[in-house]
Amino acid sequence: MARARSVAIIGGGIGGLTVANALKQIGMSVSLYERAPYFIPTVGAAFGLQPNGQISLAHIGFKDQIEKIVNPIHKWQVINENCEVVAKTDELREFGKRFGYFMGGALRAELVDVLKEPLEKSGILYYSHNMTNIKQDKDGVTISFDNEKQQKTVRVDMVIGADGIRSTVVKQIFPQTAPPIYIKKNIFYGMIDNIDEQTSINPIVREKNTITQNFDHGEFLTYPAGDKGQCMWAVLYSADTPPSTNDDAEWTKMNNQHELNQCLAKFRQSHPVHECAAATDKQRLLHFGLYYRQHRNDGWHRNRICLLGDSCHATLPYVGQGANMAIEDAISLATCLEKNNFEMEPAFQEYYKKRFNRTKRVVNISRYMGLFYHSENPIIRSIKLPVISWLINSGMMLKSLEKEMYGNCPVPIEQKNIVK
Ligand SMILES: Cc1cc2nc3c(=O)[nH]c(=O)nc-3n(C[C@H](O)[C@H](O)[C@H](O)COP(=O)(O)OP(=O)(O)OC[C@H]3O[C@@H](n4cnc5c(N)ncnc54)[C@H](O)[C@@H]3O)c2cc1C
Repeated sequence: MARARSVAIIGGGIGGLTVANALKQIGMSVSLYERAPYFIPTVGAAFGLQPNGQISLAHIGFKDQIEKIVNPIHKWQVINENCEVVAKTDELREFGKRFGYFMGGALRAELVDVLKEPLEKSGILYYSHNMTNIKQDKDGVTISFDNEKQQKTVRVDMVIGADGIRSTVVKQIFPQTAPPIYIKKNIFYGMIDNIDEQTSINPIVREKNTITQNFDHGEFLTYPAGDKGQCMWAVLYSADTPPSTNDDAEWTKMNNQHELNQCLAKFRQSHPVHECAAATDKQRLLHFGLYYRQHRNDGWHRNRICLLGDSCHATLPYVGQGANMAIEDAISLATCLEKNNFEMEPAFQEYYKKRFNRTKRVVNISRYMGLFYHSENPIIRSIKLPVISWLINSGMMLKSLEKEMYGNCPVPIEQKNIVK
C-alpha cells in the first residue's frame, strides 16, 4: 500500500494552516502553497471560534496563543427593533468552567498569524503559488503553479486540497462537481474598533462579552472579537444576485453604498444597525453572497489527493462552525494518517467515515436555521421571535448546540461535562 512521507497542502486558510502544523508535528515533510502574495489583515474579519475549534487547536499545542486572541462570550441576547432585550441567557459563561474553553470571537488575521508562525519559521509556507494543475500516478503527485513571475512544478507523495469553497483541487479530481449554491442572501460584515468608546452606539449592543441578535429582517448580529475591544457586526438580507461575479466574492471589500443604503432602509431608525454602520470605517466593511456546497457522498479523496474544509463541505454561517469544522478536519486527518502508519488509502477512508456525518449535520442544521430566520411565510414569521426566545430563555438552544457541536468533537471534550 502507498505510504506518504511528503505532503503538499494547497491553500493557506484556517484548514490548510492547521493541517500543515498537525502533519509537521507527526513527522511528515510538509509544504504549504497559498496563492495570495501575503495574508491580508482584514480578510474574513472576525469569526466565532467555538470550544470544539479551540480544543482541537490546543491538541496541537496552540492553547496559550489561542487564549490570547479569543474574546470570550458569556451572554447571548435577542433584541427587538427598538433595541429592547426579548430573550437572554448567560449560561455561556458555564462553558468556560465545564470545558475550559468559552465560545469566543476571534479576528481571522490573528488566528492566521498564530498558525503561520511555526510554518514560516521552518520555511515551508510558500506565498504567491497559485495551483493550476495536479497529475497523479502510481508513485506520486506532480503539482503545477502559475503566477505572474514564476511557473514551477513540485513532486510529492500526497496532496491536501484546502483551497476553500471554489476549490481548484476539487475541479481537478472530481470534474463533474456542481458549483457552490448561492442562497440568494447577502451579508454586510463590519468591524468597529474600541467599541467602548463608541458612545453613539446603543449600550445594549456594546455590552461586554455578549452576542446580540435581531431577526426582524433576516438577521442582525454583533459580538466582541479579538482582545483589543473590537466588535464585529453583520446584517444578512435577501437579494437576487451576489455582490460581485469575482471568484473571491465571499470576502470582497464593500463597494456598493447603494445596496447598503437599501438594506439599512428596511430597519427602523431606532435599530442599532444604523449606529453600527455609521461607526464603521468603510475599509473595515465587507460585502458578500452566501453559498454552501452540496455535501459530497462519493468520498473526499482520489488516490493520493484528499480534501478538507470548505472544499468538501462549505456551510452557511448560521451556526458559526465553518472554520471550526475545517480545524476539526485537520486534526482528524492527521490522526488517521498517523494511526494508519501513513498509508493513504485506509487513512483517507477512515477520515471520511469519521467526518462525513458530523459535517453533514452541521451543514444541514445551518441551512435549516437560515431558512427559518429568513422565511417570508407569514405563519413562520409570526412564530419566529417567540420560538427563538423560548429556545434561548429555556436553555434549549444552548443544550442542543452543546450536544451537537461539542459532544461530537474529534478531540474529546470530557464526556461527563457534556449535557446529555
Ligand atoms: C459570512 C461568513 C461568516 C462566517 N463566520 C464563521 C464563524 O463565525 N465561525 C466559523 O467557524 N466559520 C465561519 N465562516 C466559515 C469560514 O470562514 C470557512 O468555513 C473557513 O474559512 C473554511 O476554511 P478553509 O481552510 O476550508 O478555506 P478558506 O479559509 O477559504 O481558505 C482557502 C485558501 O485557499 C487559497 N487558495 C484557493 N485557491 C488556491 C489555489 N488554486 N492555489 C493556492 N491557494 C489557493 C485561498 O487564497 C485561501 O487562502 C464564515 C463564513 C462566512 C462566509
